[in-house]
Amino acid sequence: MSWLRDVVRPKLRELVKGRKEVPDNLWHKCPNCGQMIFHRDLAKNLQVCQHCGHHMRLGAEARLSMLFDNGNFESVELKQPITDPLKFRDLKRYTDRLKDAQAKSKHKDAIIVAHGKLGGVQTVMAAFDFSFMGGSMGIAVGEGILTAARLAVVQRAPLIVLPSSGGARMQEGIHSLMQMARTTIAVEEVRDAGLPYIVVLCDPTTGGVTASFAMLGDIAIAEPGAVIGFAGQRVIEQTIRETLPEGFQRAEYLLEHGMVDMVVARKDLRATLSKIVGILMYPGRAGEVVALIGNDNGPEIEILPPHPGKDAGGKDPDRRGEDPRN
Ligand SMILES: [Zn+2]
Repeated sequence: MSWLRDVVRPKLRELVKGRKEVPDNLWHKCPNCGQMIFHRDLAKNLQVCQHCGHHMRLGAEARLSMLFDNGNFESVELKQPITDPLKFRDLKRYTDRLKDAQAKSKHKDAIIVAHGKLGGVQTVMAAFDFSFMGGSMGIAVGEGILTAARLAVVQRAPLIVLPSSGGARMQEGIHSLMQMARTTIAVEEVRDAGLPYIVVLCDPTTGGVTASFAMLGDIAIAEPGAVIGFAGQRVIEQTIRETLPEGFQRAEYLLEHGMVDMVVARKDLRATLSKIVGILMYPGRAGEVVALIGNDNGPEIEILPPHPGKDAGGKDPDRRGEDPRN
């Protein structure tokens, strides 16, 4: 049996050794094109594949620091709701699942609410963390949206929500479904106050989240390739017994069918959002913008967001909008 020892074993060893040479944390495989990407390139590219442009999921904190001016923001401490109201247990206790997720993410739940400046304008943002139990919406997440909406009203600031969620948190049963109504009322409060509410639909935005606040934005932006829908594709196919079209429930498909207003690449998201916020918070300037577009100067006009130093105190006679910093 020497051939086993002399030939087969070394060959097997070589095979296994070859695989071990790539450490998991240095190289990432793009789930779309399969190319290997060095972790530094991936971080520099905001977790977007440089080969095919595939947008990978981003944590809530990374999102917020990518969007706020100079990455500066203040997160808001959220009220601690009742945990595990149903004493739910499947394979594991819900409280244990929560503890695991909290230990991994160092956050209390799947949402972070923060405020700071965006293009010089005071803005409130709420970002979801998909890695925290699939970004599912339970009482704590509902509380987060409510807090963010009320903070926006108090600060006279626009609200930007960035959902990335599998939907309602089934471990909280009916309580999680009630968050759909609760978050809808929350964003209505922002609208009643005459403030902009913008959503940036990140991959994936599904289930109860889509069926509530996520589809109610004054402006709906989506990240390229993001899955956005209520029921999953497979469920729909099984129900209606038809093959769904190519790219169904993807951001681009929704744009074509008028469900979202624009699909914006991650690298352009900050600039786009600060432009929109600038225009909406200072309607006096919107006139200038529309006139410029009407003059056929193309859509790529540099709209300068209001600068706190210059415009403070309402001295600008052209500015009919309210100063969000008051
Ligand atoms: Zn790729």
